[in-house]
Amino acid sequence: MTDLRGIGMTSQRTRLRLIERLKAQGIVHEQVLEAMTETPRHLFVDEALSHRAYEDTALPIGFNQTLSQPYIVARMTELALQAGRPKRVLELGTGSGYQSAVLSKVADEIYSVERIKPLLDKARVRLRKLKARNVRCKHGDGFEGWEEFAPFDVILGAAAPETVPENLVSQLASGGLLLLPVGGDSQKLIQIQLTEEGFEETIVEDVFFVPMREGLQR
Ligand code: SAH
Repeated sequence: MTDLRGIGMTSQRTRLRLIERLKAQGIVHEQVLEAMTETPRHLFVDEALSHRAYEDTALPIGFNQTLSQPYIVARMTELALQAGRPKRVLELGTGSGYQSAVLSKVADEIYSVERIKPLLDKARVRLRKLKARNVRCKHGDGFEGWEEFAPFDVILGAAAPETVPENLVSQLASGGLLLLPVGGDSQKLIQIQLTEEGFEETIVEDVFFVPMREGLQR
């Protein structure tokens, strides 16, 4: 309960309002709605912003990065579950750790890569505190994926490359899904599924993510 102090008596109500809003925007998967209800988003932003944590909006987390909008987190999680509960998920861009925390409730093992060290350090502390023990993070470049634990049932990008990195596609399991925002000023969320016949690409919707950048930041 300590963690809820300071965000006021309305917190439960505001949280439920967000869930209602997600439903109104077409999120229907029960497990996704449950995971979103259970994950305390206010713990993933600085205290000064915690009163805005249950608005359906992206929020700054420092280093010019943002915690993604709840709608898009829910949408991508829903897409990640379309073939059932994934065993291994690779997330590119841990950021605050919020999406990893949501994923930890609906998949067996989460692997998450972040290029900005101080963000990763903070995310690790939060995930430990929330006992998300099935999330493993590393300081690395998402363009490289995470070969050691490949192949993945789902690879989910939280930052947008200009084009689809082929290297990532090669770390997909058979039947696996790559969910990735792609593009510069105008971006599309795309889904690539590795099928027996080859790749099946679908454009999901227009999105706006921070760019995926190469190399590490200390
Ligand atoms: N899933 C995060 C969203 C963070 S925004 C959350 O729930 O908070 C996207 C993150 O991707 C940023 O933290 C950014 O530093 C990171 N990022 C950008 N390019 C990357 C790359 N090549 N490898 C790993 N992380 C990257």
